Amino acid sequence: MACMFCRSEVDLTREHVFPAFMGGELTVPDGSCNRCNGEFGKWESAIRDSTRFLLNLLQIENRNGEVPTARVEVEIRGMDVKGLFGKREADGTISLSDVVVPDVESDGKKHRRGFFVSKASAERFIERSRARGEKTTELSMPEEIVFDASYTQTLPFIFTLEARKVAAKIALASIAYKCGVPFALSPQFDALRQVRTAKTEKEMPLRVFCNKTFIAAHARNAHQHSVMCYLSAGKKKGWALVTLFGGLSYVVEVTGNYEERSSRLFSIFYDAAAKKPLSPVVLADEMTIIGEVLSKNSIFEDRDAIDEQWFPILAAYCADAGIELERIPPESSPPAASA
Ligand SMILES: [Zn+2]
Repeated sequence: MACMFCRSEVDLTREHVFPAFMGGELTVPDGSCNRCNGEFGKWESAIRDSTRFLLNLLQIENRNGEVPTARVEVEIRGMDVKGLFGKREADGTISLSDVVVPDVESDGKKHRRGFFVSKASAERFIERSRARGEKTTELSMPEEIVFDASYTQTLPFIFTLEARKVAAKIALASIAYKCGVPFALSPQFDALRQVRTAKTEKEMPLRVFCNKTFIAAHARNAHQHSVMCYLSAGKKKGWALVTLFGGLSYVVEVTGNYEERSSRLFSIFYDAAAKKPLSPVVLADEMTIIGEVLSKNSIFEDRDAIDEQWFPILAAYCADAGIELERIPPESSPPAASA
């Protein structure tokens, strides 16, 4: 066996089809070498860092079976405390943190304003302040407080070079998963292998796309990752549609010189919540769907169109989970969720 990216035959490890941080557990045994695996791991962590809230919201477990926590902004109803934040825990509850903010009064006097989660931490603050000779005033606090936690998930992450490299990797790994590593190693996929060293988006054989027929072709939800692949003997080309979180999609040109006599078609649908493949009813075959995606009915590389395509999928999940979701109009930035 050899690494599907660099052909190295040493230090082989299993390669995930969908990244583990996205709940992916399908792997290609001995599919990549440690070096390539680590390199893709770096790109994946860049996406992971910009999707922490989304992963938390969707309760997607990482490779250690943990749902990441996410930092959220907090507002207390009826109180003017700025700079408050909390943590959205794995189970969706919000825990607040102590906060001390410096402030300047209208008379020019400097003071600090604190909000404390526990009596003990408030007392420690008062003690330290007194020790420094500062005056402290305890403000009254309602018996019961109601707060709103909010977070904004923006979409630019899918347009980054890192995300594109990961999408290209998913395409190659799914070919290896479905058709075997030796097939994925054949020279016809060499251009796809080059993504590792690409320095700009322009060098990448893929585009972010939106297409209504594609979206309507099967039932979707925000936990669904998928690949639909068509290798065409007639056109001597091949494409894969890589979709993350139900509606963030790339069309990847996996080969420009397909050499086999017969075409190949396959799909992988994966549920990141159940961590297993699923088989939705798909209204057309891969050839038809990819033909449609490559047609003039698609919109490419358009952030607003992607937002419009993905928002209803995320909104359906939030509605079920009892989470309020608001779409921020394109002029500013995409979807916000509050919990
Ligand atoms: Zn390698």
